[in-house]
Amino acid sequence: MRAAFAVVVCWLALAVGAPLTGFAWTLNGDDPAMKGWNTKVLRVSLATGECPPGLDMRSLVLAAMDLWSHVDGAEIRLELAGDASSKTTAKGARAGEAQDSPVVVCDTDFKTTTSLDVNSIPGVTGISVDRDSRRVAYAYTILNTQRDAMADIATLDLTRVLIVITHELGHILGLGHSTDPRAIMYPDVTTLSRATLSDDDVAGLRHLYPPGGTDDGGGCGTIADVNRRESRGRGDRRPPSAPSRESLSSLANFLALLALCALALRYFRRATKNV
Ligand SMILES: [Zn+2]
Repeated sequence: MRAAFAVVVCWLALAVGAPLTGFAWTLNGDDPAMKGWNTKVLRVSLATGECPPGLDMRSLVLAAMDLWSHVDGAEIRLELAGDASSKTTAKGARAGEAQDSPVVVCDTDFKTTTSLDVNSIPGVTGISVDRDSRRVAYAYTILNTQRDAMADIATLDLTRVLIVITHELGHILGLGHSTDPRAIMYPDVTTLSRATLSDDDVAGLRHLYPPGGTDDGGGCGTIADVNRRESRGRGDRRPPSAPSRESLSSLANFLALLALCALALRYFRRATKNV
């Protein structure tokens, strides 16, 4: 009887404890030591030269920035640099030549610039991480505005465009993809119905931008000194990354709980035999 009680208690503890402690976010670059930008206020440029005329890109980018800027426990705020008048081109940004990085730029020649599938990928973000400081040092987002493409953002509804931009800003901030389908950082953004941050996105941002997490006098590297990678906003099915520190720690907690339960069961079985 006591053994049965112990089994029920253990089952409940495992069922409740495991999902509450696990997160699915990853870092953009597979480097567990990577940190965010070395600033509390990140000024993002916007080049609207090749954006659809009917789309208010400035308002959309501001709305996406707002979502990432008000997370309790994360010390980072995003601001729009200038008035959406950046002259940076997508090809220049990808070549590491953007003087106003991080920058969001529309590209009517998305296929040539990125070599990606224009019918399924609405956006792509590349970041560079300084080898010494491990901080994000350069970033760009290229939005697909190729006229004949199925993933041209001009063909998407406004909510979908906002989701895409929020997802790409997450990459600019240093987040990789999440395996949680509720997360804005889930690789296939078509699964979401509204632009909002999930608990998993919030946990990832807090990891990259903890309160007091900036360096005093820390510098940014040049494009020649950095590691580079790109992440896409939809249909990116790359193999799962290495587990994050949080997921490893939750796995350790889960295994410790399992071991405790096994010990408790052994004790109760022995006690029952002795009765
Ligand atoms: Zn992505």
